[in-house]
Amino acid sequence: MIAERMNRIDASGIRKVFDLAAKMDNPVNLSIGQPEFDVPDPVKAAAHQAIDDGFNKYTLTQGIPELRSKISSSLADQGRLKGHEQYDVMVSSGTSGGLFLAMFALVNPGDEVLFADPYFVMYKHFVNLLDGVPVFVDTYPDFCLSAERVEPYITPKTKLLIVNSPANPTGQVFSDSSLKDLADLCNRHGIFVITDEIYSAFSYDAPHTSIFPYVSNGLLLDGFSKSHAMTGWRVGYAAGPAELIQNMNKLQQYTFVCSPSMAQKAAVVALDHDMSDTIAAYIRKRDIIYNGLKDRFDLVKPGGAFYAFPAAPGGNASAFVQKAIANNLLVIPGNVFSEKDSHFRISFAADDSVLEQGIAILNSLA
Ligand code: PMP
Repeated sequence: MIAERMNRIDASGIRKVFDLAAKMDNPVNLSIGQPEFDVPDPVKAAAHQAIDDGFNKYTLTQGIPELRSKISSSLADQGRLKGHEQYDVMVSSGTSGGLFLAMFALVNPGDEVLFADPYFVMYKHFVNLLDGVPVFVDTYPDFCLSAERVEPYITPKTKLLIVNSPANPTGQVFSDSSLKDLADLCNRHGIFVITDEIYSAFSYDAPHTSIFPYVSNGLLLDGFSKSHAMTGWRVGYAAGPAELIQNMNKLQQYTFVCSPSMAQKAAVVALDHDMSDTIAAYIRKRDIIYNGLKDRFDLVKPGGAFYAFPAAPGGNASAFVQKAIANNLLVIPGNVFSEKDSHFRISFAADDSVLEQGIAILNSLA
């Protein structure tokens, strides 16, 4: 009954972890890939207001004009559109929606798509769904996606490079100069760059830098899920060449139709809401995790996002995570995000007290 293409994707890795979690009684949970804070009140109020005002119908496929123009000016103010005089912006159903539309609009069967390993799982599955070839650029042990590391993987079939900085699951932030080198490499080889900047708000040691200004051909993706804890509201956006955005809109019309109407209205307010206190709290959480674990774990300091990716003592992450679970701590083994199983992901999007409990359990296991 089920189409063959469904065999090319699987959700078993993460599902196994969540099945285990379901059996745990009140676990110390450092596995969650979303902020622990709630949507800011003025953003909630804007959504309530939109519903009460009857703003409950389909919107334009590409998103409401006031949100699109606000996204444009906010990206421009941050310097993320520099070098691109011609671009268009659309609102997607979360950043996942933008990624889905872009991949479907760009990848032909046999096309090779490069991205860092460890990676955000969706990249691999979308490529497989489209009969493309995922090409894993090994970035162990420092998790930096550099031009030197990418170059050996380039072939005549290379179509796309996906860049994710700050990165899930490693928390790494790529430097401005390494992004520039990467862009130069892609420009020389005619490789299109998708830059997934969903963690742009969570850059701790320097302001966020984007590869987008350096690339000749690329698409920038971002959204409100992480920055404003709006994961359930499904608002993301894409900025890039008009031809690509038009094609993504064509597909959005027949799939997602539009991002939720009231959530788009609320996103307009979100763009004006100051999140600096929240980001300051996340810097503190990053410091708690890093300082708490660095003496006993082989851990690269996360510069952004809300993840740390230490090596598993003993070298086998799945075995180590079993032990952690037996001690009431939930973390995710590296093989969910990687072709290797040597590290594990900690999410520090949790209360400080939960972080302290997690650190105590991890240090006792190490
Ligand atoms: N990209 C990355 C790297 C992510 O970690 C996530 C969420 N886990 C997404 C995209 C998708 O987020 P959303 O669809 O909620 O905007």
